[in-house]
Amino acid sequence: MHRDELKELFKKSKALLEGHFKLSSGLHSNIYFQSALILQYPRKTTRLAEELVRKIKEVNIRVDVVLSPAMGGVIVGYEVGRLLDVRAMFTERIDGYVALRRGFSLHKGERVLIVEDVITTGVSTKEVMNSIEPIGAEVVAVVSLVDRSAGKVNFAKVPRFSLLSLEVKNYKKFECPLCKVGIKIIKPGSRK
Ligand SMILES: [Zn+2]
Repeated sequence: MHRDELKELFKKSKALLEGHFKLSSGLHSNIYFQSALILQYPRKTTRLAEELVRKIKEVNIRVDVVLSPAMGGVIVGYEVGRLLDVRAMFTERIDGYVALRRGFSLHKGERVLIVEDVITTGVSTKEVMNSIEPIGAEVVAVVSLVDRSAGKVNFAKVPRFSLLSLEVKNYKKFECPLCKVGIKIIKPGSRK
């Protein structure tokens, strides 16, 4: 799938909006992305997961386990796991700490693919990586549907792929150029 084709797919499901948005953080932005709105369509999710798997296979990365941070990465991670025919598990944040729960376990030397819906700062991805480091499992790649950092986030020697790289601009209210020219602001999102 070409970049424009992907962008259309995201836009049609309203997962990707361009305009003037108030984010749950309070910041204003020119782009709003909500992966759940595309991942609610199982067939579209499969198409996206196929694209991620294609990228992994292109560079001959072998994967034993898919690991995603809950909630955002779970659905796409599960689908990637299905296509690769490997286990798909997820980490959760409890009392501020990211951990494997529910009896999920990784073994020393297992090759782990981290699958996310969106990467913005990379902080949550690093937390997932740190949470499994003591086990001795090896993170072989990090993939995401969307990269909101426009390629700026990196994880040392771990390869990273995303389907769509977005140049997202975030502004504090007082400095927002979209406010200044009087564009109506929209407040989407799941957080109240
Ligand atoms: Zn604004």
